[in-house]
Amino acid sequence: MEKDVFCKIIDGEIPSYRIYEDDDVIAILDISQVTKGHTLVISKKHYENFLATPKDVMHKVMDVAQRIGQAQITTLNAKGVNILTNCYPEAGQTVMHFHVHVIPRYENNDGFILTMKENDGDLNLPSICESIRREMK
Ligand code: AMP
Repeated sequence: MEKDVFCKIIDGEIPSYRIYEDDDVIAILDISQVTKGHTLVISKKHYENFLATPKDVMHKVMDVAQRIGQAQITTLNAKGVNILTNCYPEAGQTVMHFHVHVIPRYENNDGFILTMKENDGDLNLPSICESIRREMK
């Protein structure tokens, strides 16, 4: 199977700006820099995405994501941070290897637009609530 871009970065086959590395996790600057300092925190072992990652690894990745977000606030003068992880192409995932975006946010119009619109449909909230609740592991 062809290696994905993050496996190639982890194996040193593609260059990257590495902010952090330990046995399980690396953090690099995202090539797209949606805002200044946009960072990816990546599990070294290949898992398809957040939903497919064992909890111990997911916790290690989230720990590093939190520390990176804290550092972005203090060093880059960011005023906020978005922590995002996309699962499957329908949700915008383009690299099928678990990673978390840590996106610093700045005052005024920093160029990153994240919109959540209200659903104007007639949703059966009690039924939706119950079906998700029942399926939770
Ligand atoms: P996603 O769309 O959530 O799967 O995010 C994948 C991210 O990987 C995108 O934001 C890309 O800009 C980023 N990316 C792709 N190739 C590289 C690379 N060689 N170095 C750093 N970031 C990359």
